[in-house]
Amino acid sequence: MTDDQMGNCGSDCEDALERLEAFLDGELPQDDLGDIEQHLADCYPCTDRASFEEQLRAIVRRGCTDQAPPALLERIRTHLGDASVS
Ligand SMILES: [Zn+2]
Repeated sequence: MTDDQMGNCGSDCEDALERLEAFLDGELPQDDLGDIEQHLADCYPCTDRASFEEQLRAIVRRGCTDQAPPALLERIRTHLGDASVS
């Protein structure tokens, strides 16, 4: 992850993003759910990230990236590119 993507995120954000996958999968315990929802309500970068991940999941589930909006596809390529470079 680059500094750009983190924006003004602090340790709360790292915590929230770490649990984002479980959150989107509906696998978070109730206690954590409240924390992350509260954080997303207050933090635009994390909300943006969460909605991006959500769209990504929806597209992957449908298995039809051909029908995704070009702007989103571009973000997915960037995202996957970043993820594969470590
Ligand atoms: Zn955040």
